[in-house]
Amino acid sequence: MSQIICKNVSLGYEGHIVTKNINFEVNKGDYICIVGENGSGKSTLVKALLGLLKPFSGSIDKGSIRIGYLPQQTEIQSDFPASVREVVVSGCSGSISGFFYGKKERNIALNCMKKMRIDNLATKSFRELSGGQKQRVLLARALCAADDILLLDEPVTGLDPAVTTELYKILKKLNHDDDMTIIMVSHDINSALKYATKILHIGHSQLFFGDSSEYLKSDAAKLFSRSGGKKNE
Ligand code: ADP
Repeated sequence: MSQIICKNVSLGYEGHIVTKNINFEVNKGDYICIVGENGSGKSTLVKALLGLLKPFSGSIDKGSIRIGYLPQQTEIQSDFPASVREVVVSGCSGSISGFFYGKKERNIALNCMKKMRIDNLATKSFRELSGGQKQRVLLARALCAADDILLLDEPVTGLDPAVTTELYKILKKLNHDDDMTIIMVSHDINSALKYATKILHIGHSQLFFGDSSEYLKSDAAKLFSRSGGKKNE
């Protein structure tokens, strides 16, 4: 079942195109990694998928599906003065603001906390948690907002290797056991190839979209591994 269809999408800011000719389809249960050099437009594509940025041309068809979003760590206010429960339940409204939620929202939040094994931290202050615990809280928050899709922008940046491995395991389990669709922007091409079933590689235009196994044989992959993911000037 297709959840998102991107057709001939071009994206940018103030009349300046960042990336163009983006064509891909997301099906339920996919695990897609978006890779590309720094500045190629990965986060710009994320904004467009969330409906925060209108394409210059082309179309993004996602019906009314709700996407759970995990932003880059740098965009997160890590000293936010709220309890874990409050941060997680705020995913039900899409903003960390008011704390007036009904029973339904509190139950959704509890289920998401249990899934992330953080229900024991519910009353703890968010800002006192470790980096790995914070990431699980924010993942639970994203799950509250998700119908069947999680969109993650560089989720392992800044995490230590053990916490990174744990996060990858959690995502794999969500994908495998709950049929949760995962779309992840990643710099970590080795893990992308290990866990993702599909790769979307973007540059000034789309360089590859297809199965991870096919990606390895592609020219895009060869160029990318040679540049180490950094921009070729
Ligand atoms: P990536 O995530 O692949 O590193 P980005 O999507 O963040 O790349 O950025 C792509 C390009 O768009 C960069 O040149 C960046 O400077 C530019 N850009 C990003 N956000 C804005 C913005 N709000 N206004 C203008 N230019 C932007």
